Amino acid sequence: MPNNNHYDVIIIGTGAGGGTLAYQLAPSGKKILLLERGDYVPREKDNWSTRAVNLEGKYNTKEAWRDSEGKELHPHTNYFVGGNTKFYGAALFRLRKEDFGEIRHHGGISPAWPISYEELEPHYTKAEHLYQVHGKRGEDPTEPWASAPYKYPAVSHEQRIQHLSDDFERAGLRPFHVPLGIRIDEKNQQKSPCIRCNTCDGHPCLIGAKSDAQTICVDPALQHENVSLVTNARVMRLETNGNARQVSKVIVERNGTREEYSGDIVVVSCGAVNSAALLLRSASDSHPNGLANGSDVVGRHYMGHINSVLMALSKCPNPTIFQKTLAVNDFYLGSKDWEYPMGHISFVGKLDADTLKAGAPAIAPGWTLDLMAKHSLDFWLTSEDLPDPNNRVTVDRDGQIRVSYKLNNVEGHDRLKAQLQKALKQTNCDVHGHECHQGLFARNLYLGQRLPLAAVAHQNGTVRFGDDPKTSALDRNCKAHEVDNLYVVDASFFPSSGAVNPALTIMANALRVGDHLLERLG
Ligand SMILES: Cc1cc2nc3c(=O)[nH]c(=O)nc-3n(C[C@H](O)[C@H](O)[C@H](O)COP(=O)(O)OP(=O)(O)OC[C@H]3O[C@@H](n4cnc5c(N)ncnc54)[C@H](O)[C@@H]3O)c2cc1C
Ligand code: SF4
Repeated sequence: MPNNNHYDVIIIGTGAGGGTLAYQLAPSGKKILLLERGDYVPREKDNWSTRAVNLEGKYNTKEAWRDSEGKELHPHTNYFVGGNTKFYGAALFRLRKEDFGEIRHHGGISPAWPISYEELEPHYTKAEHLYQVHGKRGEDPTEPWASAPYKYPAVSHEQRIQHLSDDFERAGLRPFHVPLGIRIDEKNQQKSPCIRCNTCDGHPCLIGAKSDAQTICVDPALQHENVSLVTNARVMRLETNGNARQVSKVIVERNGTREEYSGDIVVVSCGAVNSAALLLRSASDSHPNGLANGSDVVGRHYMGHINSVLMALSKCPNPTIFQKTLAVNDFYLGSKDWEYPMGHISFVGKLDADTLKAGAPAIAPGWTLDLMAKHSLDFWLTSEDLPDPNNRVTVDRDGQIRVSYKLNNVEGHDRLKAQLQKALKQTNCDVHGHECHQGLFARNLYLGQRLPLAAVAHQNGTVRFGDDPKTSALDRNCKAHEVDNLYVVDASFFPSSGAVNPALTIMANALRVGDHLLERLG
């Protein structure tokens, strides 16, 4: 009797990794099942409400995790079709060529990847075209070579940001346009899917104009008869067969009932924390440390970037609507007076008073939250955190996720902030001259101004790939060394995190693994 619950490929998770892989495999005609623990993001006005999204955390999971001391934390992560790309800022960067080699940081070594930039490059180009990235080559001083131009022009700066860009250039920096996955046509506003609004970063797009994994990949994949999606299907455990080298059962909890599926190929793509947790929860007599974890690396080397949101207050207001168009990479690999990498400077979406309330910011003397929001340039600073085996995801006896994390490599980040401060002091305006800039203020008071542990937006590294099965869980094709039909394609595979946003690398890698799987499946 045919087993209706058997598939050629099962993909668990529909975010940047899983969604993109589904798109790549869909035309093959193979029977493909997507299992997603969340549902579709409801289309409602609250999609664009900063109060609902940022202050009330309406779409964040209500699940609680624990930190190393057992204190509960509420992760700022989202379980929906499309994963966290439904909420992302769509800044779609390539890692730098240097990020694929070993880099010496002030805090230690950022290890090399098992594949080179050259091997990923064609997939980066494909991912940029697929996700309709709008950008401009040749401006970013650290950008790696590319085999094709962006297909869509860069999103323009609004006046205040253009002014800042000019100021930064005068100060000797090379600011550039952020490559963005928003489907905007600035030449034809009437026909443009994107209306350039102020609720993009952190929010789902109410009108479907953001290039997220659902819109760009999952929906088109589902047009193929051979592809199906089951939502609200939380994968609890993977079981292996007698010789332990095949995942033979995918155990799902859906609406309180247990379901079982099987696949010739099983791809885990639940996000770096949940993928590690799933493998750890799947421990058995033949895989006592967790599935595919003979190396004991699963869950370890958790990285999430060192991030700060800093508000530069100026006497002049900042009426910008879509702020996230400018970035600075002059300090990415170091500078004349500091030989180590510092990181990447860019923007978050424009902050408003409701959003600020959620972060309990330090209120600048003489300002209100509302005034601060109206006058601030809201910077997003990213530096690389290094893969420390003790920074890890584990699963407690009661099944709850625990994330133990100690920040490292902070000196470069502090110097990056100082570089930004220095550049801002040189900014100028016609009315107030150099006095316009009033200082840099932290978006929140946690962790000495950095984002709290719960801010797991850039989570990666917990199921690293590599050539040596003693030090990695996945091989260079992202197949588990110890299991023949198990792959992982979310951000877990990163051996180091670089300092630019991770999503494009996850998407490009999913396309690369997709090519490998198409070959394997014949
Ligand atoms: C507010 C915000 C802004 C961001 N901005 C940017 C940006 O501008 N640029 C950028 O590059 N990155 C950005 N990111 C990060 C980016 O969204 C992530 O790096 C990316 O989505 C990670 O892809 P992934 O495939 O690893 O996981 P996800 O996209 O998180 O997908 C994982 C999927 O697995 C599902 N899942 C989890 N557990 C299970 C289970 N047990 N069973 C079934 N399904 C499961 C989840 O519901 C989810 O759909 C941002 C993130 C956030 C939250
Ligand atoms: S309309 Fe454009 S700017 Fe607004 S959320 Fe959608 S993609 Fe982002």
